[in-house]
This record gives sequence, C-alpha cells and structure tokens, in this order.
Amino acid sequence: MTQLATTTDLPAKRAALMWFRDDLRIEDNPALVQACQEGAVVCIYIFDDSPVRRAMGAASRWWLAQSLRALSQDLAKIGGSLNLLKGDPAQLLPRLVKEGEFGSIFWNRRYGASEIALDTQLKSDLTGLGIKVSSFNGHLLNEPWTVTTKTGTPCKVFTPYWRAAREKGEPSAPLPAPTKMAAAALPASWAIHALTVEALALEPTKPDWSGGMRQAWQPGAAGARANLERFLDEGLAGYGENRNRPDMRATSHLSPHLRFGEISINQVWHVTEAARLGGTAKAPADDFAKFASELGWREFSNHLLFHNPDLATKNYNPRFDAFPWDTNAKALAAWQRGQTGYPIVDAGMRELWATGWMHNRVRMIVGSFLVKHLLLDWRLGEDWFWDTLVDADPANNAASWQWIAGSGADAAPYFRIFNPMTQGEKFDPKGDYVRKWVPELSNLPIKYLNQPWTAPQGLLLAAGVTLGQSYPQPIVEHDKARQRALAAFKALKPDDDFARNGE
Ligand code: FAD
Repeated sequence: MTQLATTTDLPAKRAALMWFRDDLRIEDNPALVQACQEGAVVCIYIFDDSPVRRAMGAASRWWLAQSLRALSQDLAKIGGSLNLLKGDPAQLLPRLVKEGEFGSIFWNRRYGASEIALDTQLKSDLTGLGIKVSSFNGHLLNEPWTVTTKTGTPCKVFTPYWRAAREKGEPSAPLPAPTKMAAAALPASWAIHALTVEALALEPTKPDWSGGMRQAWQPGAAGARANLERFLDEGLAGYGENRNRPDMRATSHLSPHLRFGEISINQVWHVTEAARLGGTAKAPADDFAKFASELGWREFSNHLLFHNPDLATKNYNPRFDAFPWDTNAKALAAWQRGQTGYPIVDAGMRELWATGWMHNRVRMIVGSFLVKHLLLDWRLGEDWFWDTLVDADPANNAASWQWIAGSGADAAPYFRIFNPMTQGEKFDPKGDYVRKWVPELSNLPIKYLNQPWTAPQGLLLAAGVTLGQSYPQPIVEHDKARQRALAAFKALKPDDDFARNGE
C-alpha cells in the first residue's frame, strides 16, 4: 500500500531518460531540450551489439569513441553527465525502466528498417511499463514520408524530390543548447553496467591504425562547427566547380559530423543561410544552391532508405538481380589496398585507408572502377566503405553505391564508365593528389602520372619507378575492361524499362 501511494505521488519528480543515438550534440537537439523540461535527466548512450542491426564499421567505431568523449565534456559543462551502456537496447531499456524511477524517455528518430522496428517495439514496451515515450526529428530537414510525388507516392528521381522538399518551406530554426541541466544518476544497481569509453573497446590497439584519422579530424561538435566555418570562409566560393577537385580542400568535410549528429542539418542550413544573407560568405548564389542540393542528396538518400529498407543489400532495380558479377578475390584485394595500377584509384583507396574519408569525385571513380572495370558486385564496395569510412552512413553509402552501379534510383546510366586516366588529368591537373597518396610515383612528370605504363623506360628509371615492383602494372587493361562492362551492362538493358521517368 505504502509503495503504491509513493509511486503515484512520484511522477512529477521522476527523472527523464535522454537516449542519445545518432545525435551526439547538445545544440539543436529537440529530444534533449524536451527531456530537460521534465526536470532531472539521466543521459545514456547504448553501444548496440545486437546482431539484428548492422554493426558499425571499424573506422566509425573509432569516430564514435572520440565523439562520445566530446559529448561527455559538452554535457558536463551544463551540469549533465553521459552514462555509457553496452547491449541490446530492446532488453536493456525495459530493465532499466523497471529498476529505476523514470517518468519519461526521449530520443531522436532514425530511418533504417531495423532501427525503426526497435523503436516501435520499445515504444510499446516502455509505454506498457508506464513511462511516457517521445521521439523527434533531429536528423533531417524533412522526414522521409513528408515528401512525395504529386500523386502521393515515394520519389524516385532527385530533381523533383528536391523541388518538392524545397516547396515545404524553410527548415525550422535550430534550438539553443540547454544552459543548465539537472543530472540524475542511474539506479545504484546499474553502476556495474555503466562503462567508460575505453571499456567499450571501440578503438584499435594492436595495431593502432588510427594515427591518420587523428591527424585529419577533430570529432565532436566543436570540430563540426570549425569545419563549417572554415568551409564558409574558404570553400563555398567556387564550390560548384572546385568540389570536384580532390587536390583542393573545397568541400565542407562535414559528412562524419552529420553522420553522428554532432551538428544538425538545420544548423548547417541556417548558418549557411545567415552567411548568404549577411554577405559574410562571399560566394555566388549558384555555389550556395549547389551546396544546398548536396545536403538534398543526403535527404533523398534517407527517403530512399526509408522506402527501400534493404537498400544496402538488395538491388533497387531488380533487373540487376540477374547481373553476372565476377568473383575475383585478388582484384578485390588490389582495389581495397590501393594496388590496382591506376594512380587516381589507388590514391583514393589509400586516402580512405589513412584518413577514413575520400573525396566525392574519387569515390565515384573508385566505385565505377570496382563495378565496371572489375565487374565486382557493388555490395562488396559498399561493405568495404562501411568498414573504412568515418562517415559510413546507412542511407548515403547504400544509395551512392547503387547510383554508381546503375541499379539505384535516378542512377548513373550503364554506359557511363569513368576513365581513370582522364578523370585524374581533369580533376587533379597538377597531380598533387596522386603524388600525396601514391608517393612512389611522385617523381613522374604529370604527362605520365595517371598512366605510368605509357612512360618511356628511361624516364621511369629516372623517376625511381619499376612497374610491377615499386608500383603495380594495371590489373586490367582499360579498353578491354570498358568493352567487357559495356557488353555486360547492355545485355541487362537496365535503363529500358525502369524508373527514369518515375517521379
Ligand atoms: P560536401 O560536398 O561538403 O557536402 C555536404 C554534405 O552533403 C556532406 O557532408 C553529406 O552529408 C552531403 N552529401 C554530399 N554529397 C552527397 C551525396 N552524393 N550523397 C549523399 N549525401 C551527400 N556520404 C556519406 O555521408 N556517407 C557515406 O557513407 C557515403 N558513401 C558514399 C559512397 C560512394 C560510392 C559515393 C560516390 C559517395 C558516398 N557519399 C557518402 C557521398 C559523398 O561522397 C560524401 O557525402 C562527401 O564526399 C562528404 O564530403 P563533404 O562533407 O566534404 O561533402
């Protein structure tokens, strides 16, 4: 009796749970703002090790560790603290709620099928346990189901998608970070479950291969903000052209920050808009529009993922189910290690390995090389990127790989086969990018840098290059590979009856 009476007296005082997921920030975090309005808050992050959901790749795990440290510090500044747990949220959260004194739980939504299934189950289980469950949009300008074609169906083509999205009006203004939090503790019985970042074992130790990533990045909200400001000062003017140049720092480098929600898309949008209106970013309107449309591709990818839950594993265009992919393990390994003999491809794959990131133009070149020159299944590329990218994203990675393969929505036409030599010459005109990542070729003159096998023997010798020893011979011959790909893709006729007019 006494216990019952106490429980009914409690709700107004019971703590709120704030469950951080892909929103590792305190600014413009709608779930956090609402949680703080409930009174005392227990902040948690659960490293999800359930096999039901796709495990994070190694580079993403490294990023996550740094991001959790940064979030902990940001929370501490406003009086909060971050509790780290590990396990399956479907089991952990109901237990936590049963053993603690919680009145409510708050989170920001995700859009992958297994994440939605988890949230739906939890919503029902936790509501059944008597606590209020509230979820928010903290990840997208427009949630996937809010943008449709004129007839109300999901969009299949980017341009009309983005037009419809823009017609929905300006994104909402970012919410300020709470200035003060009343932090509550986990129940005493849970002290043994709370872990340090180190105990989550997210970072590589033997060997520690994260040196290049540490040098290249500052994970966390402050690093995100710094990248955005630097981009507005130095990258935005000329973005439309220069974004294709891997030898320049002309793009925002916001992708891992956005992936982990260290900065919100609303913040990026509004800070950029303020720079445009205030004239502080001296860039032509076209550059702003181009940058906005790249953010639009992120939105479109999430739209595709939501409506096609198997986007990372199943051809969006089912005609590709019959495609005769090759299974050449040696070729795959050469591609992964940056040893294909095509310098721009190898430079990209080595940049990826060292820094966890690759320039977008080069992602397209190496992607095309994998699926067209090597005729290897796009899923092998998606999987490698998933493991090695710090920005590995369930929506962007899957949608981009299907786009490259031609099996995706609004995809590259089958006859578009990137020529790695001319792409290198055009987008890395002085060869700075290739020389940086493929230093064994750095003494070659630009004329031969993208096709060292055409250089005279004496010149190769003078540049210290021995093909087949210091640098590989091309693993496939470009012209032959191109003909083979054209024949295979043409036989499939992927463009004939699919989607290209399907708004
Ligand atoms: P910016 O040019 O500054 O663009 C700003 C933001 O817009 C990016 O941070 C990103 O969030 C978004 N964006 C830009 N281009 C795209 C695009 N084509 N599709 C979707 N969103 C885009 N991006 C990821 O975030 N995660 C991935 O796992 C990923 N995998 C890719 C795989 C392949 C094969 C290809 C071709 C592209 C992939 N991309 C992925 C898209 C793109 O390459 C990166 O978003 C971009 O290079 C990140 O650099 P940035 O932040 O400087 O981009």
